[in-house]
Amino acid sequence: MTETAPPRSPNFPQRSEVHERIVGPNFTLAKLGKIEELTRYGIRHPLVGATIPGKVFLNEVLDLTAMEISFGLLAPHRSIPFYHKHKQNEEVYLFLSGVGEYQIDGEIIPISEGTAVRVAPDGVRTARNTGDEPMFYIVIQAKQGSLEQWTGTDGVPVPGAVTWE
Ligand code: ZN
Repeated sequence: MTETAPPRSPNFPQRSEVHERIVGPNFTLAKLGKIEELTRYGIRHPLVGATIPGKVFLNEVLDLTAMEISFGLLAPHRSIPFYHKHKQNEEVYLFLSGVGEYQIDGEIIPISEGTAVRVAPDGVRTARNTGDEPMFYIVIQAKQGSLEQWTGTDGVPVPGAVTWE
């Protein structure tokens, strides 16, 4: 049986243009550079027909297989320029700097550094930066209901003292 990989996000620049990328047998590491320089990345969204600077999906960069993660940097006084929802993935937005508003099914809620929002697939969502500083955020999405183990049961201690030599 052949496995069909899902289509990758239309990042620019491409994976090979990420600052640094190290691939080992059990890891993929990528250095995308300084957060304030994230605008060197972006996506050309095929469905929206818009170019979104400061947004970079990590699926291809990190060879992700179970979740989608993206960095986003929203310029001062700018909105994500469209509404969207999902077919099967729930989404978590983690706002790490700035102030703004989150809009979900027409409800508008203030957000700021340290705000986390979980949205079910059907929620119609967008966000905007209402402040004078860039708003940095991370979006994680994974199939709703697919999580079978939590940290407390999935994490397994490995014996031995930690050394760094
Ligand atoms: Zn989404």
